[in-house]
Amino acid sequence: MQTVKLKAPAKVNLYLNVLRKRPDGFHDIETVFEKINLCDEIVLKRRKQGIRILCTHKDLPSNGRNLGFKAAEALLAKTKRQDGVEIKITKRIPVAAGLGGGSSDAAAVLLGLNRLLRLGQTRTQLLQVAAQLGADVPFFVLRSLRAIGRGKGEALTPLKIKRKNWYVLVVPPLAVSTRRMYQALRITLTKPHPGVKIVIRALESDNLTSLNKCSYNSFEPVLQKKYQEIQEIKKALRSLGAYATLVSGSGPCVFGITQTRKEAMGISKKLETKEKNWQIIVAKTYDSKK
Ligand code: ATP
Repeated sequence: MQTVKLKAPAKVNLYLNVLRKRPDGFHDIETVFEKINLCDEIVLKRRKQGIRILCTHKDLPSNGRNLGFKAAEALLAKTKRQDGVEIKITKRIPVAAGLGGGSSDAAAVLLGLNRLLRLGQTRTQLLQVAAQLGADVPFFVLRSLRAIGRGKGEALTPLKIKRKNWYVLVVPPLAVSTRRMYQALRITLTKPHPGVKIVIRALESDNLTSLNKCSYNSFEPVLQKKYQEIQEIKKALRSLGAYATLVSGSGPCVFGITQTRKEAMGISKKLETKEKNWQIIVAKTYDSKK
């Protein structure tokens, strides 16, 4: 095998509760991840030596700082292989939006390189490498569409829920740093809210409206306070008929959930007429078979 081509899907967090700061400086969280069919494309090719990144996005590093590079480097070191690889990344997932694009690229490189070089690593072994690369990377190595993430996000419980949601993703042009968002959180002051179990129950039922009552993101109040645009997007999505709206990850992407493609497309078209500088994308729960 000379080439491996993979899709690297984005994620949304349907629930994200930051629980506490840990002695090591990280935070313990409880989250519900879901993969969606907005994907980067990764093509891996054998090389005699060295890791080479070809990345289509002008703002992303094409060197050792690219998460795809770090993933290849970590896996080659773990398996003591001297081989090289060329990693072509075609970016479609908005960068630094809370959609997990970098983590997903890293996971796709781990899965793809394992196949390309027949490294013989089990999924459990790949999950260990993934956890060293970043808290969100293990979820993308996992086969499941949805999972609960605990600890930093890397301690995963796969969820078997069949329902497919449609999403209208709205990404405003705001530079939001995940690190700053954590610093801005005042964990003890967050309001009480329904826990993760209620979110899972809402996903299992067909009642999307109930998701609106229990979907939650600790960063949302902070983001809404800092950026009026976040409130504006949530309001617009609701008034156009989204069943629930929420910030993904540490933002700034806000998504609205709908039952059908038609509803999502309708909302997206109406939002486009607002002539804001928002990137609007319609997506669906990921279907790995397609
Ligand atoms: P997080 O919530 O983990 O910060 P995110 O989903 O908001 O992630 P990403 O698109 O994953 O955002 O980008 C996070 C950072 O990772 C960016 O600042 C970017 O420069 C860096 N990065 C390195 N490699 C990649 C990559 N292949 N794709 C996207 N970002 C990358």
